[in-house]
Amino acid sequence: MGKIKQMSEALANQIAAGEVVERPASVVKELVENAIDANSTEIMIELLDAGIQRIRVVDNGDGMDETDIQLAFLPHATSKIYTVHDLFSIHSLGFRGEALASIGSVAKVRMESTQIDDSDTEPKGCFVEVSGSKITDQGITKPRKGTTITVDSLFYNTPARLKHLSSIKTELRHILNFVQDIALSYPAIRFTLLNDNNKIFTSFGSGNLKQTIANVYQPVLARQLIEISARDNDFEISGYISPPQLTRTSKQYIHWIVNGRTIKSFALSNILVRAYGRQLMIGRFPVAVIKIDLDPRLVDVNVHPTKQTIRLSKEDELATLLTDAVQQALKSINPVPTVEIEDIPKV
Ligand code: ADP
Ligand code: MG
Repeated sequence: MGKIKQMSEALANQIAAGEVVERPASVVKELVENAIDANSTEIMIELLDAGIQRIRVVDNGDGMDETDIQLAFLPHATSKIYTVHDLFSIHSLGFRGEALASIGSVAKVRMESTQIDDSDTEPKGCFVEVSGSKITDQGITKPRKGTTITVDSLFYNTPARLKHLSSIKTELRHILNFVQDIALSYPAIRFTLLNDNNKIFTSFGSGNLKQTIANVYQPVLARQLIEISARDNDFEISGYISPPQLTRTSKQYIHWIVNGRTIKSFALSNILVRAYGRQLMIGRFPVAVIKIDLDPRLVDVNVHPTKQTIRLSKEDELATLLTDAVQQALKSINPVPTVEIEDIPKV
């Protein structure tokens, strides 16, 4: 007797959710990235109990119509890529069409959306409710530009996952880190983060990166940063780095933004640290927010489901350009060559 059976969609979605939805911060990440892909200029994130009880993301983006709002929760349903060709030139943060299907399989979700276009027809608000991968309700609601998605009782049907969550404080820290990172990547979007009705973070959304750095860290730190910029045929680098005397004990304050995506890169951080050379004390690291823009065909973001690691072509060329840009910027504040340690006469 054969033993193989194709698994149910709900089970397949839950397995996929294991990769994408690890904790409340992963849900916030997916929802905020959707809001950004929908061209929002204001994104509000409201949490109850650091997202364990409720995560609500309110955006003022393009919205969805009645058909799309239901399709959105199906696995592999996306409006962002249609062909394999698109996969190799991705312009959006999402593309796997997996997030909403995964979230809808491990939480109770309500999504409301209104598409406001130029036509004269009255805009129509629509909503859908999903839990355990099933649509439990759908209909018409009051129109409001953009989308509001509410995710309640995360992991209500996967107790093992629920048990693995950390304290409220830790979960909140993960969310705050993400929101601050994404605010740095999108200075033109106004982000607000609330937990239990307390405001935790706001960015002005003025489009000015230095101001956003001041929102994330203190204004006094932002004021000391030095601008860097460089470009060649393939890459454009811009952003801010700290002077050698303004350092931290971890690399956590180095932010990389590649084509609008916050990424982690030991390789890039090492290049940055090496570019400071002896100006940096051992065990100390700069503060930096560096944007790298390049032809999307030179980046493979499809390395990991969370898309925080990427594969870059022409890495050596980028390393040289980055090193030059950093050294140029450091020279601009310190035109006198630094004295080599060995040259200091002993007293
Ligand atoms: P992906 O982002 O990879 O396309 P998701 O499961 O996150 O997959 O979302 C599925 C689709 O739902 C998106 O492609 C988009 O068309 C639509 N969508 C999701 N969230 C929003 C939103 N906030 N505003 C407008 N459309 C959205
Ligand atoms: Mg998405």
